[in-house]
Amino acid sequence: MPSLPTPDHLRRVWAALDTLPDPTAQRPWPILVSGCMMSWGCGIDGTSYGMERALDLLRGLDNLRWVPVCPEHMAFGTPRRMPDLHDGDGHAALDGHARFLFDDGQDGTAGIIAAAAEALTLAQREGVVLAVLTDMSAACGTQVISLGARSDSPRRFQRGMGVMAATLDRAGIPVMSQRDHRTMQRLLSRLRPEHSVDPAALDHHEHPWTVATFGG
Ligand code: SF4
Repeated sequence: MPSLPTPDHLRRVWAALDTLPDPTAQRPWPILVSGCMMSWGCGIDGTSYGMERALDLLRGLDNLRWVPVCPEHMAFGTPRRMPDLHDGDGHAALDGHARFLFDDGQDGTAGIIAAAAEALTLAQREGVVLAVLTDMSAACGTQVISLGARSDSPRRFQRGMGVMAATLDRAGIPVMSQRDHRTMQRLLSRLRPEHSVDPAALDHHEHPWTVATFGG
């Protein structure tokens, strides 16, 4: 099956992984991560969306240091209503062309942009070298997010980033999702040199669902 082209932001992750100095216990790589994947109960309903096992392959390593963040919790608290991006992705929202709306119509665009800037400040202060973020989120998504409210029928999707992911990307911090399995294998091979890379692993844009949704 033909796959979609590798997005530029993933190429920037690969470039970083090819050039960063080896991570060690003394100099671990600081990696920004969506709080829900660190078992934070920061989802809209106060759960972690069942995401706590998503990064099991990266657990127990002493040469990485997690820097968890939840931009939606920072901006709106928890619990909160479901937000989605309308008329474009996170980059479009930063440019004033898309809106971050809750499912009751409230506009959270200014709030999430401010929280994303705060997250960027945290990332820069911590010397973050990479961000691993929860895909499909209007704040954290990096490859695929909803286009308009996810409760719409039929639900629509767009290739693009959430607002925090776009903010980090623009500032030069490489971003990837937990669903970018090919890239995850590259990350693992840097963190665990003995790691045997799975050649069948696919990034999210290569997944049959993504190709079927957006065309190959
Ligand atoms: S905003 Fe990001 S960290 Fe927070 S719950 Fe959503 S996906 Fe997880």
